[in-house]
Amino acid sequence: MPTTTHYAFLKSILPRWLQIMLRRALVASTLPSAKNVWPIDPNSATPPEGWQGWPDGKKFALVITHDVDTPGGHDHCMKLAEIEKRHGFRSSFNFVAEDYKLSDELMNHLRSDGFEIGSHSIRHKNPFKSPKKFPVLASQINHYLKEWNAVGFRSPSMYHNMDLLHHLNIEYDASTFDTDPFEPQPDGVGTIFPFWVANRNNNKGYIELPYTLPQDFLLFILMRQKNIDIWKKKLDWIAENGGMALFIIHPDYINSKTWHVSGQQTIKAKKTFPKRENTSVCWLTPFMNRTTGLCDMQTRWPSAVISLMSSH
Ligand SMILES: [Zn+2]
Repeated sequence: MPTTTHYAFLKSILPRWLQIMLRRALVASTLPSAKNVWPIDPNSATPPEGWQGWPDGKKFALVITHDVDTPGGHDHCMKLAEIEKRHGFRSSFNFVAEDYKLSDELMNHLRSDGFEIGSHSIRHKNPFKSPKKFPVLASQINHYLKEWNAVGFRSPSMYHNMDLLHHLNIEYDASTFDTDPFEPQPDGVGTIFPFWVANRNNNKGYIELPYTLPQDFLLFILMRQKNIDIWKKKLDWIAENGGMALFIIHPDYINSKTWHVSGQQTIKAKKTFPKRENTSVCWLTPFMNRTTGLCDMQTRWPSAVISLMSSH
């Protein structure tokens, strides 16, 4: 089984098309042994201890997030945001601070339209490669979190180290997943619910938001799916179990050959949500979060993620 070090090394020396071919082969060889835990791991449906349900008695939550990996992705953010706005959605956009030039105009536009800005680290590479050096990197990330008025973090390529993340000034992290044996660091957290990650050294911590719907890259590029059946099946299962359906969509793929599949399928998927019965949109801003008076788990509910919650 390849390790995260193998991935990083191969990524640094192989052309992109060859990396994709190799990952396709790896996915195909992993799939048979993963069929009992992917896309659905039945054991992940148990709510965390102390779980009090969603605000206002809603049945499940939907969270739409975007990771902006490249300059091309950055330039497509507005297009994606406009489409979401048209359909009544708001989402979060996670930017890499120093891999491409970030437009102030874009950031301001997203914020003023109710979208959230989050950190996708300083460079798009494993931030935990050297645990000893992470505090230095963390101070750089904290600088941008403050500058962007951001409270959320998503690690590049879903590398995760939940202890080291306590160095960040965040309200939530979203660098894990319930089940995804195809990731470079494939250990899932085994739950479709958000959960609290306490800092053993003080009474602080952050909330962890695992992604629970397979990534667009896996489905439409590596697996070459032509429809959204896997998303629909998983979404229904998450809703039945009262969990959190969390998407990661990459604006980087808009206008590429894959946009026709991943972009359009994403929109189609989003269009199916409002058709569900008795749904309502809940946008939790940092200010609303502090004034709602929700208790315990809900007090710490991440401040600015889009949540579409079904009340039936
Ligand atoms: Zn990324």
